[in-house]
Amino acid sequence: MSTANPLAAGKKRIIFCDFDGTITVNDNIVAIIQHFNPPGWEAIAQQVLDQQISIQEGVGRMFRLLPASLQAEVVDFGISNVRIRDGFEELLAYCKEQDIEFYVTSGGIDFFVYPVLERFGIDTSHIYCNGSDFTGEFIEITWPHPCDEHCTNHCGMCKTTIMRRFPADRYERIIIGDSVTDFEGAKLADVVYSRSHLTAKCSELGIAHTEFETFHDIIADLKRERK
Ligand SMILES: [Mg+2]
Ligand SMILES: [Zn+2]
Repeated sequence: MSTANPLAAGKKRIIFCDFDGTITVNDNIVAIIQHFNPPGWEAIAQQVLDQQISIQEGVGRMFRLLPASLQAEVVDFGISNVRIRDGFEELLAYCKEQDIEFYVTSGGIDFFVYPVLERFGIDTSHIYCNGSDFTGEFIEITWPHPCDEHCTNHCGMCKTTIMRRFPADRYERIIIGDSVTDFEGAKLADVVYSRSHLTAKCSELGIAHTEFETFHDIIADLKRERK
């Protein structure tokens, strides 16, 4: 059994941060679908909640209900709807100062995730999310980051697949998230910052976690951990 401090062991700190409901206060996919309200979306959403279909299948099918001709309206709504959680800019500054790598691992979609994060100077090479194609009759979601052979959840954007590229013997892996889709990542992580459903799930299944409400809470805890 090792009691080595990850810092003493020379591990690099790396943060994997969720987008919807974490960086943002609200859930953007739900907001977009609710706003445009295409007939049939509620039944699909219910099937996802009941775990009859995967998140990937559910999101794909819901967006396929929206005509691609609505592109400008959907993109505008997606971006303008976003509200950023307090302390996000400060967390990015702290990571830069402390040489902590910061990655966004999001089940959201490029057309709202990229423009919102661009304002904060986050390069797209540090953002993992799903893609979109407006060239057909309906909006098609694309999946450039699928599950590897270790994951069978049909995540769409697979957070654990990304995390496994940063091995535990070289990185102190920190995850920030709010929902059950962050849970598999939380099991892999050294440090978990949670809110909402992720807190409940971690409590229920005995995964160590620290609750947060704003990113100021996380900065304060990261500073404590460094001592
Ligand atoms: Mg989320
Ligand atoms: Zn997966």
